[in-house]
Amino acid sequence: MPRSPHPAAVASAKELVARLRIRHPREIDIELIAADLRILVRKMSLQHEEGRLLRTATHGIVNVSHDAYKSNKWRFVVAHEIGHFIRHPENDNYEACTRGDLSNYTGTGREAEANDFASELLMPEVLFKKRCDRNRPSLRDVGELAEEFSTSLTATALRFIRFAPEPCAVVHSTNGSVDWLDWTPNFRPGIRKRTKLDGRTYAGDLFAGKAVDDRSSQVDGDAWSDSPWAADMDLFEHSRKVGPNSVLTFLWHKA
Ligand SMILES: [Zn+2]
Repeated sequence: MPRSPHPAAVASAKELVARLRIRHPREIDIELIAADLRILVRKMSLQHEEGRLLRTATHGIVNVSHDAYKSNKWRFVVAHEIGHFIRHPENDNYEACTRGDLSNYTGTGREAEANDFASELLMPEVLFKKRCDRNRPSLRDVGELAEEFSTSLTATALRFIRFAPEPCAVVHSTNGSVDWLDWTPNFRPGIRKRTKLDGRTYAGDLFAGKAVDDRSSQVDGDAWSDSPWAADMDLFEHSRKVGPNSVLTFLWHKA
């Protein structure tokens, strides 16, 4: 089964969204939210981490790497550090978070907890869930929501999966192999982690340097899944490069 987000982290973010009376995605001004909590956000050159929280009991400073400002990633970094500030007050006065911590989408522990907090704060269920009811969903729908909520395609795709009524999955691959995935409870084909991508997948084509249309297209079910009946199912794939060595894939099948 897909992993459930940390309930207390989600509850903390919901409480903040309610207290600030956020009613529209454009009202999620992460620097203002930080300021409300007495946290200053600074853009810095950081060597090995994307974000760093310095804190006293009542105040904080979040240093964010220059690199994170190349996209909307910086907003997730700040939201993640706010998560540590609120959720982990027993921590010492220094918390450094690496790229790995910030892409810990499917694990457990404090970093995953801070990511769950950030997802709920940047894409509050009360605003986001109703936008996930889409016909034949694909990365195009995810991209529209990423635009509206000023979030990354990957973080938005994972959030989409949490609420989508249609059977779908998000698969992240690095260097031609699946490194993590998440799916809706009604998504049927089983896909294994650390599996080398099949040459018939569009994600595999992207790693092979082939041109791939930026849209959802039918793919052989058994190219993605070992399930015995997968070959006969109608599976649709939409893959995009999200980094020099990484591809994000959205899979959907009819209910
Ligand atoms: Zn962290």
